[in-house]
This record gives sequence, structure tokens and C-alpha cells, in this order.
Amino acid sequence: MSIEAQPFDGHAVSPATQAFLAKRHGLLINGEWRQGRAGDSLTTSDPATQRLLASVASGGAADIDDAVAAAGHAFNGPWSRLKARERAGLINRLARLLERDAALFTELEILDNGMPRFIAGLTVSNCVEMFDYYAGCILGIEGVTTTPPPHVTADAEALTYTLREAVGVVGLIVPWNVPVSTLVLKLAPALAAGCTVVVKPAEETPLSALALGALIIEAGFPPGVVNIVNGPGETAGAALSAHPDVDKISFTGSTEVGRKIVQAAAGNLKKVSLELGGKSPVVVMPDADLDLAGPGVAMATFFLQGQNCMAGTRIFVHSAVHDALVERIVAFAKGFTLGHGLDPAVNFGPLISAAHAARVMAHIDRARADGARVVLGGQKLDRAGHFVPPTILTDVSPDMAVFREEIFGPVMAIHRFETEDVDTIAAMANDSVYGLSGSVWTRSLSTAHKLVSRIRSGQVSINCHGAIATNIPFGGYKQSGWGREFGREGLDAYLQTKAVTARL
Ligand code: NAD
Repeated sequence: MSIEAQPFDGHAVSPATQAFLAKRHGLLINGEWRQGRAGDSLTTSDPATQRLLASVASGGAADIDDAVAAAGHAFNGPWSRLKARERAGLINRLARLLERDAALFTELEILDNGMPRFIAGLTVSNCVEMFDYYAGCILGIEGVTTTPPPHVTADAEALTYTLREAVGVVGLIVPWNVPVSTLVLKLAPALAAGCTVVVKPAEETPLSALALGALIIEAGFPPGVVNIVNGPGETAGAALSAHPDVDKISFTGSTEVGRKIVQAAAGNLKKVSLELGGKSPVVVMPDADLDLAGPGVAMATFFLQGQNCMAGTRIFVHSAVHDALVERIVAFAKGFTLGHGLDPAVNFGPLISAAHAARVMAHIDRARADGARVVLGGQKLDRAGHFVPPTILTDVSPDMAVFREEIFGPVMAIHRFETEDVDTIAAMANDSVYGLSGSVWTRSLSTAHKLVSRIRSGQVSINCHGAIATNIPFGGYKQSGWGREFGREGLDAYLQTKAVTARL
């Protein structure tokens, strides 16, 4: 396949990225790159230009069998005999290689996903931090000593302690919206815990996982510790989640597929962690600082073109500040620069695919028909690429589909409310099957904390939105997921506790 030197709306990519795109990409199984058993491939294209980027090997159930077997051998072999310090050293080495190749990873994320450069750069540096953070946690993986049980101590001295052990072989299934970051969020703690893994990236964004695979080999991880099988969710993903020799699945993606994972996992009762969809509430009270809330609420919805699980997309605005706030949000959203993410001036990219852009447009059209008023955007851009501009809807009532369903696109739905009663407001905010994120905008400490304690979400921020960080646990209430990622809880997800009692 020939890749032109500057094919991306006239923006150049580095020679390293050109060389990467020109390669024949395989599956990483047992430390080696190989084609799938059926010889299948999948292609990936640039969402901003629709140009073909690369063709990569695509695996199926037989390749998943091979990858799981390799991960099982590695788990029972050299990997489990490494000292904690050696495991940490390998993860730190991987962090340094990722740091060295940050420009390549940034460009791959921009090209494969369409995200703007500032977001791609941030996600790659967060991944470096994530590896370092979890490598740093390894020496802190420790059990406790505890009181031995009475039936043993009745006639003898005894000692009881606990060990924290790796869960085993873990399947990591990730989405396309922040490809390398959703992967590293799982990979770093899984490796720190001592697990071995089979990674199934999203079909839309196979590239950064493959680039990371090359660094894993270069860092010197034993073969089989990390296996990477690109392929369709319905075959490769389903085979991984149903596999009897997989001890756990860690999944990030839609609630609909999360349900399928749970069903598939029932066969061997493997453990399951789920980071799923959201429809997060944003509550703006009459005493909010509107100069802060205008840009803040706009970014809550439009960051990453709304293709962001934490996106605040149900906006509740008190009547007293409704018009003034809408004016500020519209003014801010008009300032986005749409275009190719390689352009450093661009801060708003395309959606991932034509099919997804069509889904988002169908939501907008339905909202219009249901009586919502479009005050900004609302039309797909007439240019190459899957560009839907920031779209702001007012006069939205809580029963409209646009206010209830996850759209995963740049669509803000604003509902005007009259009350100042925190219980009534919280009940409105909680009227959703999801509970991932949320935010409250007010100058009153009391109102803020009363609302925070009543909103049923895994993350609620005050006068900001989606405040994630390496050491802050993140995850969903209700149908937004099971378990937490980030921080110590993210590591605990890959550990299990063994109680040991010794009669002395
Ligand atoms: P998706 O559920 O369609 O796909 C996610 C992954 O699952 C992909 O790798 C896909 O190939 C695989 N898959 C599909 N069908 C499968 C099956 N039957 N068995 C096993 N695997 C299967 O999600 P998406 O469209 O890639 O991503 C968007 C969704 O992800 C949104 O709902 C978003 O909210 C969610 N998300 C959540 C978080 C979070 O942290 N909570 C983060 C990012 C994205």
C-alpha cells in the first residue's frame, strides 16, 4: 500500500508514522507477529479525510485460543517467577519507550480516531504516567497478618496472613474513543498485579495497540505476557469473553455489549469489570458563576466531540440564568476550530465513522421533530470526513429521547427548571439508567454538597466536569458499569486475596 507523504488535508506526518502505516501488521501472539489463522484483515481509515490508513491482520476464535494459551503459559511460567522489582522495571522501561515514541503515538491517535492534537498529546502523556504510577504501586501490593481462627489455635500456636495474588489471564476489550488510553488504563494495573493479558482493540482503531505491542517486545516482556488480537467484536471479542481459560474480562464500551460480556462470562463465571455508557447530568443553579459555567458546560459536552463516556449531555439550567448561560455556551461553542487533528489550531475533530455520524444526525432530527429548538449546529458539514458541528438544543423536556439515550456525539440538550429544592433537582438528575459522571455549578457550598450526596453517579464534580486523574478512582453506578479504574482500586481489580493459616 502506498501512503502519500502528506495525505492528510495537507498536514505532514513524521517519517516514523509513515513507516508504521506502510508496514504489514499482524497479531501479537506469544511474542511474535503473525497473520490470523483464517488470513483475514481489516482496514482502518482517517475519519477526517476518509483516506485508507492501513490494513491489519484480523483474528477470530482460533487466534483467540492461541493467544489465551500463550497467556496461560506465560502466567504459569517465567512471568510469575519475576520478582516484584523486575516486573516494575519492565513496566518503567515500557513507560520510557512510550515517552520516546510519544510523537508517533500522538499522530496515530489523531489519524485513527480523529481526535485533536491537544487531546492526543494529553492521552499519550497520561499513559506514560499510568505505567509509572502502577509500576510504583507494585512494592505496595501486600497482604495483612490477622488473628488465626479459634479451632486451629485451640491446641496450637498459629499464624494467619493474607496474600494479594494476580487474578490470572485477563481479556482486555477496549473501545475506539480514546484507544491507547482506555487500553493502558487496563494494561498498566494488570501487568503490575502480575496478570497476563489478551487485548482486543476496537475494529475502528487498531493502530496504537499494535504500536504498543512493538514497544512491549522491545522492553523485554516475556513472550505471551501481552497478546494483541485485532478483530471483530462479534467473533474475536465474543470468543475472548466466553473463553473457559480466561479468568477475567475487563471491558470498556457500550452498555449493550457490556450485557453480552456478562452473559458470555457466565460459562466459567470469570470475573468481569465494566466501564460502560453514560448520560451525565450537569446542574446549573441560579447562583452559578456564569463566566465559569459557560465554557465549563460547553466543554462538558463537546470535549472529544462528545465521544466521551463522561460527557455531560443532560443540562439542567435554572430558569433565572437560562438565557444568560445559553448565550455564553453558544458563544464559546462558536469558537471551536473544526478540522484535521494534525493541525495544532484545531480543537474539534470529526466523528469516528460515517455510520456513527448518521446515528448522531438521526438523534438531532428526532429531537427537532419532538419539539427541541436547535440554537447552534444541527447539520452535518458538507466536506470530506465525518464532521458534525457542536449542536445545542434548548426547550428539551426530560422525556425526549435526546435527553435519555446516550448519543456519544456533540449534542447538548438543555432543560430549563424552576425549583431550588435539592431533592427535586437530584431526582431529575437521577432519572436515568446511567450513573457515570455529573457536575454541579453553584457558589453555595451547602447546595453543592447536598446535591453531590444525592446524585447517584460514580463521579460528581463541583464547578468543573469530568475531573479524571491517574490516582482518582473512576467508574459507574447503575448501568454505567461494575468496578473502578484509576488509582489503587484500579489495581485491586486485577488482584485477589488468599488467606493462609499455618499451625506452628
Ligand atoms: P462497543 O461496545 O460497540 O465496542 C467496544 C468493544 O467491544 C470493541 O472492541 C468491540 O469490538 C467489542 N465488542 C463488540 N461486540 C462484542 C461482543 N459481542 N463480545 C465482545 N466484545 C465485543 O463500544 P464503542 O462503540 O467502541 O465505544 C463507545 C461506548 O463505550 C460508549 O457507550 C461509551 O460510553 C463507552 N465508553 C465507556 C467508558 C467508561 O470508562 N465508562 C470509556 C470509553 C467509552
